[in-house]
Amino acid sequence: MLLPKFSYHEPSTLEEALQLLSSLGGNAKVLAGGTDLLVRMKQKIDKPAHVISIARVPGMDTIVPRNGHAVTVGAAVTARQLADHEFIHDHFAPLALAAGRLGAPMIRNRATIGGNLVNARPAADLPPACMVLNSSVTLKSLSGERQVSVNDFFKGPGQCVIEPHELMLSIDIDTPPPWSGGAYIKLGARKTLEISMVNVAAMLTLQGPEGPIVDARVALGAVAPTPVRAYAAEELLVGSNPSEELFHQAGAIGVGICSPITDHRGTMEYRCMMIEVLTKRCLIQAWEKARSWKP
Ligand SMILES: Cc1cc2nc3c(=O)[nH]c(=O)nc-3n(C[C@H](O)[C@H](O)[C@H](O)COP(=O)(O)OP(=O)(O)OC[C@H]3O[C@@H](n4cnc5c(N)ncnc54)[C@H](O)[C@@H]3O)c2cc1C
Repeated sequence: MLLPKFSYHEPSTLEEALQLLSSLGGNAKVLAGGTDLLVRMKQKIDKPAHVISIARVPGMDTIVPRNGHAVTVGAAVTARQLADHEFIHDHFAPLALAAGRLGAPMIRNRATIGGNLVNARPAADLPPACMVLNSSVTLKSLSGERQVSVNDFFKGPGQCVIEPHELMLSIDIDTPPPWSGGAYIKLGARKTLEISMVNVAAMLTLQGPEGPIVDARVALGAVAPTPVRAYAAEELLVGSNPSEELFHQAGAIGVGICSPITDHRGTMEYRCMMIEVLTKRCLIQAWEKARSWKP
C-alpha cells in the first residue's frame, strides 16, 4: 500500500511548528512516531495534504523530574523511554508498566505518549495509566496554551478535545504522596503485539503501611467508547481497610460502569468477567506496592 501524496514539513523550532499548524490547520496532521498516522494514511482513512513532523522540535522528547514533586513528560517521549525510565518506574509505575506492554519492541521504539493519547483509541494502553495518575496535558497554539486533565481529554473513539491548530507539548504528573502504589494489567489474546481486550490501571494511597485507603483511582480501557474512571468503585475503596474481598467488590462495581462490545477479540460477556477479575488483581498489586512504599 502506497502513501497518498502530501507535503512534508520538518520545523526545527516550536514557533515554526505552531505557525505551520495555524496556517495549514485542518489540512495538516502532526507526525510523531507515525505508528498510527502512517498506517491510517496507507489505508486512506486519513488523507492530510500536509504532514508536520515534530522530530526536530527541541525538548519534546525529554522526561524532566520537577524537584521530586512532579514530572513533565514531553509528548514525543516514546513508550520505550517510559518503560525503561527508573524514575517513572519508581514513582509512576502504571505508566511504565503500560508503556512496556504497548505493541512490541519495534513499535515501542517509535510510538509516543502524545500519539497514543491524541489517537484516542478506547483500547490504547497509556490513557488508563495517565488517568489514574491524574495527569494533565499541555496543548499549545499560536494564540495561547491550555492545560486539560487527561480525565476530560477523550470524547469518543478516535476523538479528543485537541483542536487542529494545537500541538500537545507535554504530559504533567504530580508525584503521588507517600504510601502510594500503582499497577497496570493488560489482557490480550497474545502476550505481545496485541491490542487490549480489557486493560486496568489502579493507584492506591494508604494512611500508612497497614492503614486504610485514603485515595483510590481505577481506570478501565477497551470497555466503553472511551477509557473510563471507575469513580463508584473508588468511592467504595476510600476510607476502607484493604482486603481481597473489598477489591473483589470494587471489581464488581467496575463492571456496572462499562459498556463493552463483542468483537473478534472477545465477547461482551467475557470482557465483563475480566473487568471484575482484573480490577481485583490490579488493586491487589497496587496495594502490595503501596504497603512497601519507600521514600
Ligand atoms: C503493529 C502495531 C501494534 C500496536 N500496538 C499497540 C498496543 O499494543 N497498544 C496501543 O496502545 N497502541 C498500539 N498501537 C498503536 C500506536 O503504536 C500507538 O497509538 C502509538 O502510541 C501512537 O504514537 P505515534 O507517535 O506513533 O503517533 P502518530 O502515528 O505519529 O500520531 C497519531 C495521531 O496523534 C497525532 N499526534 C501525535 N503527536 C501529537 C502531538 N504532539 N500533538 C498533536 N497531535 C499529535 C497525529 O497527528 C495522529 O493523528 C500499535 C500500532 C501498530 C502499527
